[in-house]
Amino acid sequence: MGVRVIRCCAASAGEWSVSTSEIDMNKIIVFVVLFISIKSVADAGAPEMKVDNWYVEPFKMFDNVYYVGDKWVSSYAVETSSGLVIIDTLDSPYGKWIPANLEKLGLNDKKVSHILVTHGHSDHVGGAEYLQSLYGSKVIMSEKALELAKEQAQKSKGKNRFVPPVVESFAEDDSSIVVGDTKFKFYITPGHTEGDLSIDFFVKDNDKLYRAFVVGGHGTNFQKPGLAKQFMASMARIKRLAMESPAVIVNLSNHPHKNNLFSNREVGVKSETDNPFISRENFLRFIEQQEELATQKAQERFKSIGSNNATKSMQPTADASAD
Ligand SMILES: [Zn+2]
Repeated sequence: MGVRVIRCCAASAGEWSVSTSEIDMNKIIVFVVLFISIKSVADAGAPEMKVDNWYVEPFKMFDNVYYVGDKWVSSYAVETSSGLVIIDTLDSPYGKWIPANLEKLGLNDKKVSHILVTHGHSDHVGGAEYLQSLYGSKVIMSEKALELAKEQAQKSKGKNRFVPPVVESFAEDDSSIVVGDTKFKFYITPGHTEGDLSIDFFVKDNDKLYRAFVVGGHGTNFQKPGLAKQFMASMARIKRLAMESPAVIVNLSNHPHKNNLFSNREVGVKSETDNPFISRENFLRFIEQQEELATQKAQERFKSIGSNNATKSMQPTADASAD
């Protein structure tokens, strides 16, 4: 087969019609197409798509949502009537898997009109500029998230090196955008970082709509003063928002282990519908776990610095509230 391909490229069309049967020709075309598409991914510096690299085969979650992330970080492709919206872009260079994943899902003929980034850590923003250059997409994130992305980009090196995306308009708290038939609502919910962007939109399953929520950042953070308090305030706010009718019933976490994405998929957990990703409990449990973990982390931290005032210091105050 390899020799035939070389001949194919070197020979004239006339020589082909004499020396190759139609079946062989079809095989060669398939091989060449595969070769070119694999080569284009390889040329772009994408890591090998294997389990050892934490690669995950992309899959469909809802009529309009696909998982295109890896084993550590989530990335979702949302299909709208005006193209795709990608939520989070993985670390560099793993974000380079996303175009190949879209191709595997048969979505490569759709334009990627927007890229939404939940926060400025490299594992969420690292692939944004690459995808933006490839597709000419608009990137939306908070202003604080871009500041952090620039810091992270400066520190990035070797194969993980990346540059921040170009952001023309920042996401504001309580704002929204409409892409085709889909509206995305944004909330700035700081605490993991200062610029966490939570995203609220509807997914479709068997033509029914269900409210989904992407929490902008989980895991509290003591690197900057006030973040831990902001985290608790943000979680309380998200809980309130989530309970507004129609209540959030789909937890699209930005890390798959946080919403048991893979285990739910494998087990096919019994839920209110046949879709294992639809579960009101999953979201509320997730938020409560975030609050418990944050309190625990604060207690450990304050114990280590000799304070017993951890719980009080975590309680949201009016000035720390993200409302
Ligand atoms: Zn993070």
